[in-house]
Amino acid sequence: MSDDRNILVQTLEFHGHRCWASVAGVRAGLAALRELQVKRSGGRQLHAFVEIGEDHGGMCFGDGVQYTTGCTLGKGNLEKAPYGRLAVTVIERASNRAIRVSYKPKLQTRIAESPFMVKRGQGVEPDAIPEAEQWELVNLIWDAPESDVLSIGEIVAFERDWLPEIMGFVPCSACGELTARAYLRVVGNKHVCIPCSGYDR
Ligand SMILES: [Zn+2]
Ligand SMILES: [Zn+2]
Repeated sequence: MSDDRNILVQTLEFHGHRCWASVAGVRAGLAALRELQVKRSGGRQLHAFVEIGEDHGGMCFGDGVQYTTGCTLGKGNLEKAPYGRLAVTVIERASNRAIRVSYKPKLQTRIAESPFMVKRGQGVEPDAIPEAEQWELVNLIWDAPESDVLSIGEIVAFERDWLPEIMGFVPCSACGELTARAYLRVVGNKHVCIPCSGYDR
């Protein structure tokens, strides 16, 4: 199996089901890395804005982006823009270079007509659809020429004052749970977490 195909399979495993939008996210993420000539972000070398927004079936794109670029919710180097678009901008912090990659609508008719999407339309959960039909849809997006699937922008300059990570945790003096320093609040002479403080934030 090629390295990229391996990454695809691992992403789908992480994502939890096989779907067109997560595959589109893998292709977008890999293209961004290739164009910037950078590797997956082990730390916070890369930062991404993914334009998926909330509450729709194409948000799966974001998991493809996370897995391939290493820009993840947990590392804090992924931000969501509320646009409802399947696009990502990946930034290399050290060089202040950024590239935006977006998904092209060209395959959407074939995707909509696929047995997988017809069943999704009938309310069948993705992981309850026959596996062969899942892979048929995955391969439709995976095997298409890149120019049918992605719009790849120019590399542009992107500057930002990146905030440093604040190190250190302290147990809340009320509930005892470990709390990141920046999130402790002072109540009387005690340092407590936000829920124990009674403050909103
Ligand atoms: Zn999905
Ligand atoms: Zn507490």
